[in-house]
Amino acid sequence: MPRLTPPPVDRAAAARAAVAARRGRATVKNAVASRSRSALDVAETAWAGEPTSPEGSLRVRELLTSIPGIGPTRVARIMTELGIAESKRVGGLGVRQRRILGDWLAAREAKGRLRSRLVVLAGPTAVGKGTVSTYIRENYPDVHLSVSATTRAPRPGEVDGVHYYFVDDAEFDRMIRDRELLEYATVHNSYRYGTPRPPLDAALTEGRSVLLEIDLQGARLVRAAMPEAVLVFLLPPTWDELVRRLVGRGTEDASEQQRRLETAKVELAAQDEFDARVVNHDVAEAAREVVELMTAPEPGRTRA
Ligand code: 5GP
Repeated sequence: MPRLTPPPVDRAAAARAAVAARRGRATVKNAVASRSRSALDVAETAWAGEPTSPEGSLRVRELLTSIPGIGPTRVARIMTELGIAESKRVGGLGVRQRRILGDWLAAREAKGRLRSRLVVLAGPTAVGKGTVSTYIRENYPDVHLSVSATTRAPRPGEVDGVHYYFVDDAEFDRMIRDRELLEYATVHNSYRYGTPRPPLDAALTEGRSVLLEIDLQGARLVRAAMPEAVLVFLLPPTWDELVRRLVGRGTEDASEQQRRLETAKVELAAQDEFDARVVNHDVAEAAREVVELMTAPEPGRTRA
């Protein structure tokens, strides 16, 4: 007769094995969530190996929930559409369900690859575009953040080649002449800013996502040059908060602050031209939303 209750030593081993299995599944889910592994790769690994592997023992529901941009409600709908029961594990699917899930994941990935990976982040002055893009640079190394050229002087802490390429007027003119800029504009009626094209083209050719953090005029010029670009407007939680941020930054004098507030008013009025809007309540959250727009097949555009 098989023993129903394992002896204590086996129970301890079983508990350790269960913890290890949970950790293994968590690692797989994190890899999918951070895009370092595709859900299709996880499923294929599950089907090529043992059902007890981390990939095989992962529930289909958990796998789908880990995919960036898919919430629990959509997961439930997708599983109903695919005819896969709530409790199913990836490794426990039958031949037919494996094919259905595999085809669905492959189609989703193909659609994602076809989507533009060029995202333009614009928004009123002092809304926190710079902070959000810095957060993306530091936390999403796969995203290529375009470094603009500018004729303004560096602020304390700004590094040439990282935050901007700080160039003089003659060099900026040369870049325009040699068609090295995808777009350029005079911002706040003072300095010139432009997006160098060669690094951007190279990153797109490599299949990397590219983020441009530029002003409204620049965003419009990019839309004209590259209609497939996704334009994202970063909003402040409130107008008062925007004023507080601009004044609080203390990097501009009173007349410059006034000029930037005027620009901000005009810029806020343009938000409806954008494909998506992200409210900057919290930098990490706003950054995550922007990155999701780069790869999610359905960006949930809010074109008004
Ligand atoms: P800041 O001087 O505060 O760094 O930037 C001023 C403004 O210039 C910001 O609104 C920023 O988005 C915009 N900007 C930065 N780089 C570019 C660029 O390459 N092209 C355009 N059109 N605007 C830019």
